Amino acid sequence: MRAAQVPEAGGDFEVVEKPIPDPGPDEVRVAVDACGVCFSDHYTKDGVYPGIDYPRTPGHEVAGHVDAVGEDVTTWEESQRVGVGWHGSHCFTCDPCRRGDFINCEEASVTGIHFDGGYAEYLTAPQEALAAIPDDLDAVDAAPLLCAGVTTYNAIRNTGARPGDLVAIQGIGGLGHLGLQYAHRAGFETVALSRGTDKRDLAFDLGADHFVDTDAEDPADALGEMGGARVILGTAPSSDAIESVVGGLGPNGQLVVVGVPGDGVEVSIQALVGGRNTVEGWASGTARDSQDALEFSALRDVTPMVEEFSLDEAADAYAAMLDGEVRFRSVVVP
Ligand SMILES: [Zn+2]
Ligand SMILES: [Zn+2]
Repeated sequence: MRAAQVPEAGGDFEVVEKPIPDPGPDEVRVAVDACGVCFSDHYTKDGVYPGIDYPRTPGHEVAGHVDAVGEDVTTWEESQRVGVGWHGSHCFTCDPCRRGDFINCEEASVTGIHFDGGYAEYLTAPQEALAAIPDDLDAVDAAPLLCAGVTTYNAIRNTGARPGDLVAIQGIGGLGHLGLQYAHRAGFETVALSRGTDKRDLAFDLGADHFVDTDAEDPADALGEMGGARVILGTAPSSDAIESVVGGLGPNGQLVVVGVPGDGVEVSIQALVGGRNTVEGWASGTARDSQDALEFSALRDVTPMVEEFSLDEAADAYAAMLDGEVRFRSVVVP
């Protein structure tokens, strides 16, 4: 099979021929139909995540179908359409696992980091990493939903916001253009916060009820005039952008950050204490959360905007993602 792998930390992508992997007893071999390119692939590309063995094939937005199952796998069968996301496995026995909190498993592995991911024709994955893909969802559309989709969907649905509440999506990019669709379709009064007016029309098309150009208007003031946000989803990995919206939270407001900035964020605790507000992080979800995101996306026509690349173009797909040249998700189709 062919795979676009990273030979060493910081190395350039290389497309290689290698043996098709055999699934272990509890694993499934997935034939990859499409794999999204995520900012977090830089952990593998740059070697900044602990415990990576090289060469390593990145990719944790995998949409494909079951090609073979290990001898102990009973829940998945050949040719079934499946996705694999960020959360690659859990141990079932550590304390968080014993409480059903698999995302916080102390032994959790990550797809494309601890085992080879989807920039390839095939990968093997632990059976608990698989999500079923609904029939009416195209593989290229499903792929970005396995990380960008489930992250925004799961972050929003686990807040205290209820239909009709004011929910702001800060940043209209790979994550934000999906968050906007989910927030609108889940019944929230939805605000798009974006720099400049380039994405204004698009934001309304995706379901925004309000648009705030954060270059022209202070986003905290703008949200305050609307009564304050119950939830702000921070998708742009910029500490300045995150700091600028904290004052826009209404009572019991939650700023949920899913786009991780490289440096720290300074927040006035006074501003949080007064309204009983919080600033928190959120990371993707389990495979069943991914399947919920896929099913909701099929039900309510949530569709990512993607640009397709071949496996030979994996390096271009990655570079285009880094440079922000794609609107909004690069997808590798092997
Ligand atoms: Zn990701
Ligand atoms: Zn565990």
